[in-house]
Amino acid sequence: MVVLVVQLALGGVLVVLAVNDFAPFNDGDRSEARTGAASVGAARAPDRFDSRRAFALIRAQVRYGPRPAGSAASRRLAVRLRRLLPRGRFEAVPGGLRNVVGTLPGRRPAIVLGAHYDTEATVPGHVGANDGAAGTAAVVEAARALRGLRRPRGAPELRFVLFDGEEEPRGSRPEDFERDALRGSRAYVRAHPGQTRAMVLLDYVANRGLRLPREGTSTPELWAQVRAAARRVGAASFFPRGTQAGILDDHTPFLRAGVPAVDLIDFSYRYADTPQDTPDKLSPRALDAVGETVVELLRTRR
Ligand SMILES: [Zn+2]
Repeated sequence: MVVLVVQLALGGVLVVLAVNDFAPFNDGDRSEARTGAASVGAARAPDRFDSRRAFALIRAQVRYGPRPAGSAASRRLAVRLRRLLPRGRFEAVPGGLRNVVGTLPGRRPAIVLGAHYDTEATVPGHVGANDGAAGTAAVVEAARALRGLRRPRGAPELRFVLFDGEEEPRGSRPEDFERDALRGSRAYVRAHPGQTRAMVLLDYVANRGLRLPREGTSTPELWAQVRAAARRVGAASFFPRGTQAGILDDHTPFLRAGVPAVDLIDFSYRYADTPQDTPDKLSPRALDAVGETVVELLRTRR
């Protein structure tokens, strides 16, 4: 689960989606976006991110079944994820949880690319294909792609952080989400003060029909850089103009600490927090668009 900021502000009044200046794209717009990429000089869109590998890693995570924070399945998955990240290691999170952190060296402070790898403790049968597994797979495969790419001298250190305990623990009320949930990201920010120059969070990033307007609390300047990167790789149609509601998510502790941060999340995903959040609801093409965009952003951003 993630919680709408406005929902808390209004004391429980549910505002489903606050959208302004939102223009839905059709397939015609998509082909137009591809043409646009070609016209700025790229003979074809770059292919750095391996969406087949990423999609296989989504399926692999789902095969563990429900993976709530602290469960045996979650701990087994964490061991596997640690091996998949460059210089992968665990960092302790209070309550016996652990973040999985990888690093590519560079100038500090670092850019953090994050996702969470736990599933909903409060929804029986929740396997989180889009809510957790997709972002996790995209972080792992973006790290693999970036490891093989030359980056400019003086480029920032990159940290790949798979957060534990994003979801709220059993018995927590929605109004206490920020206090009770986001456990891994709060612990990371506390443990690494001043070490992060920017943060990019991947949450629901692989559903069919993916559209990622700016999440309401995401830093506008960083968001503009995400969209520019998307244009350069021919993925602009997945990042339409406009702003959706503000959401409490693992980027929130970074924002609170003054770090520019964006949350890539399609909050219109209808299977969120249900047992139907399974790989058949996902699109490798959508995942690839996000992966290519993130790799392009992290390859070039100073
Ligand atoms: Zn999530």
